[in-house]
Amino acid sequence: MYYNIEEIVNERKRNKKIFFIIIIAIIIIILAIMAGINFAKHVKNNEKTAQNTNENETQEIEKEETGFNKDQIKAINKIYNSDTKRAFLTFDDGPSYQVTTEILDILKEENIKATFFVLGTMVKSNPEVLRREHEEGHYIANHGYSHVYSKVYKNKNSVLEEYKKCEKEIKKALNDENYSSNLFRFPGGSVGGPYDDVKKQAIKEFEKQNIAYLDWNALTFDADGAETKEEIMNNLKDTVEGKDSVVILMHDAPNKDLTAETLKSVIKYLKDEGYSFKNIYDII
Ligand SMILES: [Zn+2]
Repeated sequence: MYYNIEEIVNERKRNKKIFFIIIIAIIIIILAIMAGINFAKHVKNNEKTAQNTNENETQEIEKEETGFNKDQIKAINKIYNSDTKRAFLTFDDGPSYQVTTEILDILKEENIKATFFVLGTMVKSNPEVLRREHEEGHYIANHGYSHVYSKVYKNKNSVLEEYKKCEKEIKKALNDENYSSNLFRFPGGSVGGPYDDVKKQAIKEFEKQNIAYLDWNALTFDADGAETKEEIMNNLKDTVEGKDSVVILMHDAPNKDLTAETLKSVIKYLKDEGYSFKNIYDII
C-alpha cells in the first residue's frame, strides 16, 4: 500500500476537527436543555406568584365582606326556638313609597322594630324610605335585586350576584359603605320549588361567606291570595298557633295596601296572645 504522509496528517487533522465539532455541539445542546429547564422553572414561578397575588386579592375582598360571626349565625339559625313568646315582623319586596311609609308610621306609633327584606330595584327607586327604615331602628336585610326567579336562580353565582347587587344599593341609599346586612331571604323561600338544587348550592356559598339566610314560620298569605282583612287575620292565627317564636312573613310592595291596613290588627292579636316584638338586632 502506498502511504502519503501528508494525507495521513490531513486526515488526522480532519478527525480532530470533527471530534471538536461534535464536542461543541454536545455542549451547545446541554446548555440549550439547561436553559430550557430554567426558563420553564421561571414561567412556573411566575404563574405561582400570579396565583398567590390572586389569592391575596380574593382574601382581601372576602375580608371586606366580613359577614356575621359564628354566634350571630347560630342566633339566626335558632330563631324559631325560644323560652318566651316573641314575634318577628318581617316585610318583603319593598321599600315602596306609599305602603312602606304607612307601615313605618304604625310601627312608630306602636314602638315596634321590624325587619325589612328589601329588593335592590326598590331601594334604588325609594332610597329615602330605606333611610327612614334604618333611622327608626328597623333591620335592613337583603331579598336580592330583581326578584325575577329565572334571573335569581340561573345558577348559584347568580343568587350571590343578586345578593351583592342589592347590598350595593343598600350601602348607596344609606350612604354607608360599611353597612352589611349579612342576611338574605331567598325569593320564594330557601327550600323547594323548581330551583331547589340551585338554592342548596347557593346556601353553601352563603355559609362560606358567613351570610345567614332566613325564611319564616308564620304568614298572612298577603301575597298569595288573601283578599280581605279577615282572611289575613285567619291565616295569621292558623300559622302562629302553638309557636313560641314566630317569624311572620308579610309584604310592603306597592300594591300591598291591605297589609298596611291590617297591620294594627296583626299587632293587637300578637300582643293579646302575649308575644313581645323583636327584630334581628335584638338577637345578634
Ligand atoms: Zn319576595
